[in-house]
Amino acid sequence: MTTTVTTHAPVSRTAPGIPETVAAARAFFDSGATRPLGDRVRNLHALRALLTENETAFEEALWDDLHKGPAEAQLTEISVTLAEIRHTLRHLRRWARPKRGPVPAVLLPAKARLVPEPLGVVLVIAPWNYPLQLLMNPLVGVLAAGNTAVLKPSELAPATSALIARLVPRYFPDGEVRVVEGGVEETTELLAQRFDHIVFTGSGSIGRIVMRAAAEHLTPVTLELGGKSPVWFDDDARLRAAARRLAWAKFTNAGQTCVAPDYVMTTPDRVPALAAALRTAIGELWGPDPRATRDYGRIVSERHFDRLVGLLDSVDPSDVAAGGTHDRAERYLAPTVVTVPAGADGPVIGPDAAHPLLRDEIFGPVLPIVAVASAEEAVKVVNSWDKPLALYVFTSSSRTRRLFEQGTSSGAVVHDAGLVHVAAAGLPFGGVGPSGMGAYHGAYSWRSFTHLKPVLTKPLAPDTLRLAQPPFPTFALRL
Ligand code: NAD
Repeated sequence: MTTTVTTHAPVSRTAPGIPETVAAARAFFDSGATRPLGDRVRNLHALRALLTENETAFEEALWDDLHKGPAEAQLTEISVTLAEIRHTLRHLRRWARPKRGPVPAVLLPAKARLVPEPLGVVLVIAPWNYPLQLLMNPLVGVLAAGNTAVLKPSELAPATSALIARLVPRYFPDGEVRVVEGGVEETTELLAQRFDHIVFTGSGSIGRIVMRAAAEHLTPVTLELGGKSPVWFDDDARLRAAARRLAWAKFTNAGQTCVAPDYVMTTPDRVPALAAALRTAIGELWGPDPRATRDYGRIVSERHFDRLVGLLDSVDPSDVAAGGTHDRAERYLAPTVVTVPAGADGPVIGPDAAHPLLRDEIFGPVLPIVAVASAEEAVKVVNSWDKPLALYVFTSSSRTRRLFEQGTSSGAVVHDAGLVHVAAAGLPFGGVGPSGMGAYHGAYSWRSFTHLKPVLTKPLAPDTLRLAQPPFPTFALRL
């Protein structure tokens, strides 16, 4: 199939209200224009063109919003979305083909097919930390499945939000993809509308608001939430190499990553060596002064900066093993490692934890190291609190890997690395319990944004259904 991407430009529309926006998306869906496979493929090419033809503009916007350097912007925002498009284009035809469905012998003769159909209008609400990827990656699946979309980028990444709002009408016909910019007020109005599915990425507290609003319309939701993602750093882990990977996973995007390692557990003897190895790794990755490099981000807002510095202020300075410096004018907070002193009674993590860094998701460049007696004890710590979005294990022992895989529950487990599972388009991405519900990426997006409709045909003759109809025989019929 040859695919041409139409550029719908220039556009000069007066901004419509939110109900009109959703109505336009519904009218476009009802027109049937998104259903043919060729149109879905064309949409994916359009999205790819939107990204590739405006790469520099996206890099600049991400720099403005988060001080995200061009290499990191490429790696964690643009190319990961392009990879998702590539993966989807490669498999879409197979996913979209109706499959034969099984029919039990008791219903024969009959035939069944599983026919995928789009859901309708899908609302995608994104956070600010990966403001491009976390809006566009769900969109890939939404469009591939033949839906129309209303996108709500984060108001805390205003440059990226404005750029997306400006570009989308140039690449998609009006109504197929609409962008609504804004914060709480606009999102609240959006959530009052009826959608056929909502994909929300953000915090658990706002996730609850979204789910309550969705319940009014019985709209299904995919909730991509956060939480405290733990790390077990075993005595047998290769200290230097593993610490480097851990530091990279933690301090990329200045720690503002939903799957960032939130706290690291290791044995008491290992704490000083791990702290030193992390200090070395930070120096190798971002140099002696991370503030001076283009490769280290900034805290998104003064509110989040103050929250993080407040947490640090409550830490004994002698427990700061690396970093700790900050500058409010720049919203700069150095990659920081804190050792958590032993001895306090009560839970290690959770709202009642003794140490302030172990109560809520940190969502910034501060990594506490917690001394835990053994891997078995670490499993108990993980299980004592909400199921996390990701769990990372650094060990060379397959027994220890199995211990965490089988003994804990989390959105994902990654051995000897952090973050990288997000880039595996063939794997489901999502949380479990308080870290989220539903999953997306690749075939899992397709499944989440498609209704798989069984179509069963039962010929009138021979009429075997007579056996299931009254008057019933005296013996009991069993299926
Ligand atoms: P957030 O929940 O504050 O905001 C997310 C979105 O919700 C934004 O678009 C915002 O405009 C909207 N919103 C905010 N308040 C609202 C309200 N009262 N009513 C309706 N909508 C509202 O999240 P955030 O601060 O942007 O992101 C940080 C959180 O997101 C962290 O908990 C992080 O772990 C999580 N997160 C999860 C993933 C994932 O893929 N699972 C990815 C990134 C971030």
